Amino acid sequence: MRIGLGKDLHALVPGRRLVLGGVTIPSDRGEKGHSDGDVLIHAVADAILGALGMDDIGHIWPDTDPRLEGMDSAVIAKEAGKLAEGRIQNIDTIITLEHPKLEGYRGAIRDNLASLLGIPASKINIKAKTAEGFGPVGRGEAIEAEAIVLLDD
Ligand code: MG
Repeated sequence: MRIGLGKDLHALVPGRRLVLGGVTIPSDRGEKGHSDGDVLIHAVADAILGALGMDDIGHIWPDTDPRLEGMDSAVIAKEAGKLAEGRIQNIDTIITLEHPKLEGYRGAIRDNLASLLGIPASKINIKAKTAEGFGPVGRGEAIEAEAIVLLDD
């Protein structure tokens, strides 16, 4: 087996969409970023690339590339799924966000992410928690995601 770890953080600002796993969540603020800022896809893609020994998403999709401005991160998820070539055993994730509460959206996020990666939804777990008011995430100024993936060697 091979294991990969991914993590991402984006600032949350008014006037941007909050996108997680390609699903837009109703919110008064969203991820600031060169792309759509989908922290969950970025963390999951980084975990997959890590397990494959392929550096990180910044090498493939640099945030200095003007062609990637406003890019839909679904493109990153689809490409990472292809690179994994059906070897994904499971993916576990944590999204840390003060508000809104994600409980009602976890299923939709899991299903959409699974479809982008081309794997069954049963191989993905989405956990959501708050930062209990501490730090930039706790103040609602940022959102963070972590992911771990297991691949067949
Ligand atoms: Mg990112």
